[in-house]
Amino acid sequence: MRKFKKPRLIISKCIEFESCRYNGLIISSDFVKQLKDYVKFQPVCPEVEIGLGIPRDPIRLIDLKGTVELFQPATERCLTGTMKNFARQYLEDLKDYDGFILKNKSPSCGIKAVKVYPGLKEGRPRTDGVGVFASEVYNLYPYLAVEDEGRLRNLKIRENFLTKIYTLSAFRKVKESGELNHLIEFHSSNKFLLMAYNQNLSQKMGQVVANHDHLPLEKIISNYQELLFKTLEKPPLYTSNINILMHSMGYFSEELSHNEKSFFLESIEKYREGVIPLIVNLNILKSWIIRFDEDYLAKQTYFEPYPEELMPITTLYERGF
Ligand code: SF4
Repeated sequence: MRKFKKPRLIISKCIEFESCRYNGLIISSDFVKQLKDYVKFQPVCPEVEIGLGIPRDPIRLIDLKGTVELFQPATERCLTGTMKNFARQYLEDLKDYDGFILKNKSPSCGIKAVKVYPGLKEGRPRTDGVGVFASEVYNLYPYLAVEDEGRLRNLKIRENFLTKIYTLSAFRKVKESGELNHLIEFHSSNKFLLMAYNQNLSQKMGQVVANHDHLPLEKIISNYQELLFKTLEKPPLYTSNINILMHSMGYFSEELSHNEKSFFLESIEKYREGVIPLIVNLNILKSWIIRFDEDYLAKQTYFEPYPEELMPITTLYERGF
């Protein structure tokens, strides 16, 4: 069983932490409830932090002649500057975080699809806004894992989010250790995972670790970090995952029967068609890793990128898999 370092996340406080929404309510999220035992959360409510009470008159994004502002219609207060200042100050002071879970559709915290109203009068809103706090998150931490609690109900988005926060948090441990050996070990145990995300960049990371230019450790780590952040920017394509699954099956080609291989190939086909999630195929491989004592694959984080309790089989049923 892999040992995990707890990721550190900032979360919108109204999700499972405090009844601080404009109407005095709290948002319930089973996923966040479950995560509480596995990550360190730092909750924040930007609207409360800038002095708006609970409950409070609602605020919204409005388009004022091409400029989107954060506005409180009942008091006619424009809060854009105050919110931006708070967000910058708060976010710049953060150290060693791996990601954010923000409340969806909020004019402060929403990461996408937030309503933007056409001016001060009522009218049909467009839905392409980003909350003011969230847009500062993107400005300052474009490389961290940023999601909203609504999108995290989607299994694929959740798998990718979990993979990213646990990989970033493992890398923070390497940085804290300040030892090249730990970086070499990190790269070697994440080889399949990084290849699935981006084969070209993972090869470049290998060159950084090999350090043919004899750079000082600090420089090696910062070069590696830059490539790691780029690698994790986009989730792996399903075709890349299939390549890794096929490659992994190759390790057992002598031991497996014809029927076992056919069964696995059929299972890969079902993953290609979107009928089953990746984790089903990973579990088949994991069972072979144990059965045939395959040490090299056993160390690959690709087969257990996050604690498996966070993606129980019941979740798969709930999501219709
Ligand atoms: S969405 Fe953000 S600003 Fe609004 S209540 Fe939740 S934490 Fe506070």
